[in-house]
This record gives sequence, structure tokens and C-alpha cells, in this order.
Amino acid sequence: MGRAMKPQLQVMKFGGTSVGDAACIARAAQIIADGARTGKCVAVVSAMSGVTNRLIDAAKAAQSGNAQGALAMLDELAAKHASTLTVVVKNEAGRTKVWQKMQQVFAEGRRFCEGTALLRELSPRTLDTISSLGERLSAPMVAAAVTELGLPSEALEASELIVTDDYHGGADPLMEQTRTKSHARIYPLLEKGIVPIVTGFIGATLDGERTTLGRGGSDYSATILGAALHATEVIIWTDVDGVLTADPRLINEARTIPNITYREAAELAFFGAKVLHPKTLKPVVEAAIPVWIRNSFSPEKRGTEITPKGGRNGGVKALTAIRDVTLISIGGPGIVGLPDVVGRTFSTIAEVRSNVLLISQSSSQNDICFSVSSADAERTIEALRKEFAQDLKHEKVEHINVDPNIAIVAVVGENMRGTPGIAGRTFQALGKENVNIIAIAQGSSESNISFVIEESAVKKALEATHREFGLHLTKNGN
Ligand code: ASP
Ligand code: MG
Repeated sequence: MGRAMKPQLQVMKFGGTSVGDAACIARAAQIIADGARTGKCVAVVSAMSGVTNRLIDAAKAAQSGNAQGALAMLDELAAKHASTLTVVVKNEAGRTKVWQKMQQVFAEGRRFCEGTALLRELSPRTLDTISSLGERLSAPMVAAAVTELGLPSEALEASELIVTDDYHGGADPLMEQTRTKSHARIYPLLEKGIVPIVTGFIGATLDGERTTLGRGGSDYSATILGAALHATEVIIWTDVDGVLTADPRLINEARTIPNITYREAAELAFFGAKVLHPKTLKPVVEAAIPVWIRNSFSPEKRGTEITPKGGRNGGVKALTAIRDVTLISIGGPGIVGLPDVVGRTFSTIAEVRSNVLLISQSSSQNDICFSVSSADAERTIEALRKEFAQDLKHEKVEHINVDPNIAIVAVVGENMRGTPGIAGRTFQALGKENVNIIAIAQGSSESNISFVIEESAVKKALEATHREFGLHLTKNGN
């Protein structure tokens, strides 16, 4: 990878599956040790896979008053961690130390679940405390595993490093403060040759109140720390080979993309490609720090490099589809005379905090349609029906229609800007396959064309476009 002379600092992140059991943790520890032997290395780890979900289940059980159920779930998790720990850490003293730490974390979890059950009330703040226990359990285990490989290592809680706002369940970093704190805490360790293993997902407010960065937020933790520490690169170690041209479960011929731009990767994340948390690239854009997506189960593979400019290969890079979306349309000839329909529609959506994935309006103004994720659909529709109740009654607005059986497919590629004909080729390829297009949108950034189709046509649509743009010929990033 040719950057031998520069003093190097890698921030590596390991996702839940990459620390999912004892064998995975051993593999992760080896990758960290290799990194720390060739340069400086900070690791960020997720909870073992499935653990965060289980913790949230426990919190919800407690909220409904079922303290017994919640505590039983914590016991199950304790047993899982104990048996993993036994395999991961051979050294008795090391194991005892980690186990004591884990006991403290579980004791805290029990107290919070009992309190929640007593009050039958689960505040976002308490949910953050409970759901973030998993990272506080995995980090000490990974640190002990690295230590066993002969490299001193220390687990750190990111609440000591990442300062956030107080938006519980989806906090954002305050970069200035984060920089100061993480410098002060991390650099002295690195200078002593100690490898820091940091909990992903977690931050803390200025007052020290624990927060989380949102589900899947450990990717974000890694780039926040990468930017704060001026890392040479951030490597997201996961369970797939990199960013793929399409979902391999739907498209056999999907390939790993060797190089991709920040913008392309962000579009893919926005449109539901599951490799990256959508906010991941935000912190590194300014400093232009490269982010790699690599497979911890096949570390010999190169993976995907995400950089400001990407590779030279222009045109369409990848396809993605989101299935759990709902299309809502508001319209009828009457809305021509109602110039405020668009404004009222979108302020209503904003009030209920729904995330709009795609908007399309015909110039005749007969119809505005947009899609939101299905999780947001019900409250959005309810709010719109309320907002337009009078207009519906007087038939100024004829309908508010809802179609849950749709999907959005996005064709993504930054250099599409300068390449005419991509929309034409896309829709021709779909036409040949008889895929019916319900709505179309192209962002003015021209790095995606997205369209709405029936959910049942997703595979056909992806196959047709994947072939049309020769994505099966992508030079593999492996
Ligand atoms: N453990 C957290 C989650 O499952 C964060 C992460 O894994 O990125 O959402
Ligand atoms: Mg993830």
C-alpha cells in the first residue's frame, strides 16, 4: 500500500461479527497486533454480534415491568461472555481481571434494568446506558487477547474520548472537545507502546452523561477518532470483502469495488447498502483521510478504498435497493391552485421527523410523491391526513395514497455527471425487462439516479442494470 516512510497511525474498527465469538476475537487481535507492529494502531470495537439487540430487548422487557425477564437476558449474556472469555484469554490472572470488569458492567446493567422496571419508564438516556453495555464488555476482552499476543494493550471507554451533543440514541460529536480529550488520553498510551482498544458506539456529553451514536454507530466512532487523532487511515474490518457493486444475495455477479469516492460511498449508505453507517464519512472528509472496508475473515483480500477522488473508472459504480419503503402521493388536479401544498407537505414531514428518501413531482403539479422508510410511514400519513383534512373534505386535494409494496433502486456513480446517456440506458434496460417505473428522481449532484418500482421487480431491475453497465466486469478489489 506504499506509504512506508510516513509515521503511520491506523484506526481500525471491528464490527459485531468480526468479534462475534472466540475465534473471531482471536483473528481480530492478530490483525490489531500486526498493525501495531508495523506502525501505531488504535482499535475500535463493536459489541459481540447480537448483543446490542439483546440489551435493547432487556431494556424493553424492563420497561414493560418484566424485571425477571430483563435480568434473565442479562444472565444469558453474562454466560455467553464468560464462555468466550475462557477461550480467548488463556492467562488466568488476565482472565480474572477482565471478568471482574465484566461483573461491574453487568451489575450496572442490572441496576438500570431494575430501576426501569420499577418506574416502567425507559428514557432515551437510560436506553443509551443499557444498550451500550455490549461494547464495554467486548473491548476488555479484545484488549486481553492482544496482550496475550505479546503487545501491551488497554481497553478504553469512548465516553472518555468522544464528546457529543445530548441527542440520546443518535448523538453527534463535538469535534473540538473530542480532539482535545482523545489526544490527551491516546497519545501517551501510544508512546508507551500500549495499544488502545476503544469501545465503539459510545460517547458522552460535556457533563459526562453517556450517549450513543445510533445503531451501527461504531463505524462513526472510528472515523470520529480517526479525524480527531489525525490518523493516516481508517480501516473498517467487517464480514464482507468491501463495498460491492450490488447485494450479492440478489446478484451472483456482484463484485468488490476497488476504489470509490466519499460521495459515492455516502450515497450507497444513504440508499441502504449496509456496509457503512450513513454518517461514517462526515468526520474524515475535511482531512481527506482514506477509509478502507476490509474483511476480517479474509484479511489477505485488499478490500475497498474510499477516498475524496476515488479511482479513475467513471460512470456507474454500484447499485443499491431499499425494500422497506413506502410511497406516499398527494394530489389531484385541484392542487394546481394550492401553491402551498408542497410547503405544507414537507413541513408536516419534518414535524414528525420522517426521513424522506426520494421526492418526485410532475410539472403539471397534479401529484407530489415521495418515499419514506416504512418505519416512518404510519405517523407520516397520519400527520398528512390531519394537515390536509379540510382540503380533502373540499376536494382541493383529491387523494393521499399510500403504497407499501414498493422499493427504491439507486444507480450510483460520481462521474455520471459528465457522462450523458446513463438515465437513458438505465430505463431502456429496465424497459426491455418489462420493469414498470413508478417514479424517478435524480439528485442535482448527479451522483445517483433513483427510481421507484414494485418490490417484486427488484431482482430483475438490479440484474438488468448490473449487466447494462458492465458491473460484473468490475476489476475486483481482491
Ligand atoms: N453495537 C452497536 C449496534 O449493534 C453499534 C455497532 O455495532 O456499530 O448497533
Ligand atoms: Mg455495522
